[in-house]
Amino acid sequence: MRIKTTTSAFTILLSLATGFLPVFGSPAVVDDKALRAQGDGEWLSYGRTYAEQRFSPLEQINEQSVAKLGLAWFVDLDNNRGLEATPLYHDGVLYTSLSWSRVIAVDAGSGAILWSFDPQVDKAKGRDACCDAVNRGVALWQGKVYVGTLDGRLIALDARTGQPVWTQQTTDNSKPYTITGAPRVVKGMVMIGNGGAEMGVRGYFSAYDAETGEMRWRFYTVPAAPSQPVEHPELLEAAKTWSKDTDWSLGGGGTAWDSMAYDPELDLLYVGTGNGSPWNREVRSPGGGDNLFLSSILAIKPDTGRLAWYYQVTPGDSWDFTATQQITLVDMEIDNQLRKVLMQAPKNGFFYVIDRVTGELISAEKFGKVTWAERIDLKTGRPVEVPGSRYEEEPFVMWPSPFGAHNWHPMSYSPLTNLVYLPYQEVPGLYSNEGKSFVPKRAFNTAAGASEVTELPREMTSGALLAWDPVKQQAAWRVDYPHHWNGGTLATAGNLVFQGTAAGIFKAYSADAGKELWAFDAGTGVIAAPMTYRYEGQQYIALMAGWGGVAALFGGDAMVATGSRNVSRLLVFKLDGKAKLPVLSEPPKQLRTPEPVVASARDIQLGGRLYADYCAVCHGAGAIAGGVLPDLRHSPEAIRLAWDAIVRQGAFAPKGMASFADSLSEEQAKQILTYVQHREYQDWMQAMNLIKETE
Ligand code: CA
Repeated sequence: MRIKTTTSAFTILLSLATGFLPVFGSPAVVDDKALRAQGDGEWLSYGRTYAEQRFSPLEQINEQSVAKLGLAWFVDLDNNRGLEATPLYHDGVLYTSLSWSRVIAVDAGSGAILWSFDPQVDKAKGRDACCDAVNRGVALWQGKVYVGTLDGRLIALDARTGQPVWTQQTTDNSKPYTITGAPRVVKGMVMIGNGGAEMGVRGYFSAYDAETGEMRWRFYTVPAAPSQPVEHPELLEAAKTWSKDTDWSLGGGGTAWDSMAYDPELDLLYVGTGNGSPWNREVRSPGGGDNLFLSSILAIKPDTGRLAWYYQVTPGDSWDFTATQQITLVDMEIDNQLRKVLMQAPKNGFFYVIDRVTGELISAEKFGKVTWAERIDLKTGRPVEVPGSRYEEEPFVMWPSPFGAHNWHPMSYSPLTNLVYLPYQEVPGLYSNEGKSFVPKRAFNTAAGASEVTELPREMTSGALLAWDPVKQQAAWRVDYPHHWNGGTLATAGNLVFQGTAAGIFKAYSADAGKELWAFDAGTGVIAAPMTYRYEGQQYIALMAGWGGVAALFGGDAMVATGSRNVSRLLVFKLDGKAKLPVLSEPPKQLRTPEPVVASARDIQLGGRLYADYCAVCHGAGAIAGGVLPDLRHSPEAIRLAWDAIVRQGAFAPKGMASFADSLSEEQAKQILTYVQHREYQDWMQAMNLIKETE
């Protein structure tokens, strides 16, 4: 193991010799000052700066030179789940996270792994993860690296060695809490939230002392049951927006699983909160109510953890419309007035521009296909809903869906073009009211029938890169993609925007006009956002490439259409880079002739229902996997013979396939197998018929 220390005299000599000055003001230690005004070659926090613009002032790689961009080096990662992290860069070292909350430090010049850390998350915990065993990145502060783990720990590592300095359990592991988001450090405190609102938890986020790990405060995003103590005064007001008949057994939801931003001048921390548990408001809070603080943007005073203001993006959410999507802070001129604004493009499909001093809504317009609401009323700040969209009486098909018009995939903003580069996706959703028949289970608890969706045809879904003008509230340009679930974006002063696609092509566009200037075959679907840094006078672009995340796991026809599978790598590019990725062989096609399934229609139907409830979220809707986890239609015979040992006895628990003995009987596990075999036979018959037709 090789440990890199600090910038050497050699670095400075080399910099002088090559004509590049060393980065003046580049901090040796990441502290409050560094995070407020970091050197232009650095990337010290998830969204680069506290404002989370994901804009880099570097311009060595630019509109003219980008044609010469090539792979500098890559790291093959021992990883078979989605990669969602944005690497951080400080003082010659990249710090990033992999699936199962593992962390690596990599020499930013050579790609040598300096250290790696595995928190040894119990793989059975993967069953509590709604959306793949992913992690979106780490935080840096005073010689430490912070990571939140899937099982709810917050761990401080020594940045030089990767050894743990302190560990705090931030969640109750008897409940289905998970952490996938990147921590942020503000005023010497590590801010961390959690996820789990699909399964049923009560949301909150907390501040921990960065040095000692001691908890400073915790903010609950929804009230507790009335019989429980009230932790802080904001919850008294929030409780008035919940029905007296609320079912608190699933915790209410409102998890803060991704977005945070900080304004040091206003001294306000902005946090986005998620959907309710369960999704369906009629079941969650019978009779209605806004259900604060679900799907809201909260402005928090970081010293005390008290609320300054809030804006609820989707009142009384019933659709998994989280407000956890990226929060970006910009000062911009609107109506001849310089405004301090906050921007968000949440799942619900409206682009919000909000005064970040007061929380006043300035504007909100649709950025894609939106059929659940007509518009946002600027006077009340509330959506004007389309009748029927709450699916109380009849099932309702609408846009967007639980996948969101925009999900966690980071957007970027360029102060040079005043445009937001937004990974847009168009995916319909079908919601139906489970009403009184809903029974909570240790699985997705939506009460909206959403787990029954078995098809997502490729014709019905698409994606786009939108260059969104937040003042005019319209697209300045757009690039359409045939698939949804494309990667996050990066904007640079070289008039460039970078984005990887679901089909695995990493691209660069001109930021002002959207002209494609460069493309690279990443060999795997890309979901993460790229970042850039400068090391020894050279600008690099880094990308975590590895197909996965909730849409890829949920699979279906639309994800099969991407042709992507998981090949996990850290890819790093520079001008005149000459490295090559090895060409991988195609996985063998499954061509066996299945036996017709000898089972009753009832068993197949029950198996299909159980599959939808317990299996689809990882192995794909309709038993069509999306290129990450095994497609059960094509399981080898040995797997089918060992079915009960795997499904109920935990034989594959160390691989992330937990035991379902607490939820499924032996007979039910068999019914699922019957359904899966039936699906294989159906598809084979269909393929044979197609061959006949074309002959
Ligand atoms: Ca959700």
